[in-house]
Amino acid sequence: MLTTPYYLIDKASLTRNMEKIAYVREHSGAKALLALKCFATWSVFDLMQQYMDGTTSSSLYEVKLGREKFAGETHAYSVAYADDEIDEVLANSDKIIFNSISQLQRFADASRDKVRGLRVNPQVSTSEFIIADPARPYSRLGEWDPVKIEAVIDQVSGFMFHNNCENENFDRFSEMLDLIEERFGHLLARVDWVSLGGGIHFTGEQYPVDRFCARLKAFSERFGVQVYLEPGEAAITNSTSLEVTVLDTLYNGKDLAVVDSSIEAHMLDLLIYRETARMEPCDGPYSYMVCGKSCLAGDIFGEFNFDQPLKIGDRLSFKNAAGYTMVKKNWFNGVKMPSIAVRQLDGSVELVREFGYDDFVHNLS
Ligand SMILES: *Cc1c(COP(=O)(O)O)cnc(C)c1O
Repeated sequence: MLTTPYYLIDKASLTRNMEKIAYVREHSGAKALLALKCFATWSVFDLMQQYMDGTTSSSLYEVKLGREKFAGETHAYSVAYADDEIDEVLANSDKIIFNSISQLQRFADASRDKVRGLRVNPQVSTSEFIIADPARPYSRLGEWDPVKIEAVIDQVSGFMFHNNCENENFDRFSEMLDLIEERFGHLLARVDWVSLGGGIHFTGEQYPVDRFCARLKAFSERFGVQVYLEPGEAAITNSTSLEVTVLDTLYNGKDLAVVDSSIEAHMLDLLIYRETARMEPCDGPYSYMVCGKSCLAGDIFGEFNFDQPLKIGDRLSFKNAAGYTMVKKNWFNGVKMPSIAVRQLDGSVELVREFGYDDFVHNLS
């Protein structure tokens, strides 16, 4: 048995998502790029690149990773590029998508031989959280004025819209696409490709995939564009767990269990969005508040029921630990960094990366 804590990526679960993505590509004509900001654990890219068309990025380092580790197309996007990184970004990408007209103009010369796009903000979105809402008031994420965009349309051959966020509702997605068509249709007809971004939960159990494909296809045909999707969470959802061990139990009005991990260090996204971790459902009679080992008072994964009282040495498994989780792990409190393990398709578990004291030391100076 591997030493905890570790993230365990299950290739069979990952493959189920990949097959759905491949189905959508085939039936809609859309291309699918993995959004690296959500998931950048490259040891499983060998599998993922068989089902997807490439990657999209949000920084120089992500675009380099995509080019180096993932076959196919490499899209570059960033909220803002610095002068000293633009050449390397261009050298490592097939397309560059600028966030603003000002960035497009600043790097017009440098990028003149490149396929260029512009991020458009349609000012509608699905996010439940203002912090993750690209259409929030005064959003810096993309240009929204069709008149201003039209003035530079000769400099780009495509647009990127990213306004969905964990959207499981196909009708809502489709309504927002209607609005995009209405507001930007005259511009869409003048470009060759359109990325609809990420945040569409089309790999979910109940998602009406065939209606989704038909909608994408109709959009693509109406405007004569190649559609791109940029799934992050949808690509890796439910593929990975965080495996931990109980280090201590105590009773302080409630039964508590302390594990060898930390929600702040190893599942930070949950803390930011005030969500609790998930385990396999269990309605056993023993209820525990499962806590991390950092000094943060609120380092709490959640309250869970178990069939037996917990004891030191018990192993617990938190579900859905891939998206926005492994990319955000940090060295807070010097808590041991989870290793990365992969359950291969034949069922064997392979340890692919371990972190030690040296990694902690070299993270700062
Ligand atoms: C975050 C992001 C994605 C991926 O979003 P998911 O919700 O993980 O699917 C795709 N494209 C852009 C531009 C993004 O900012």
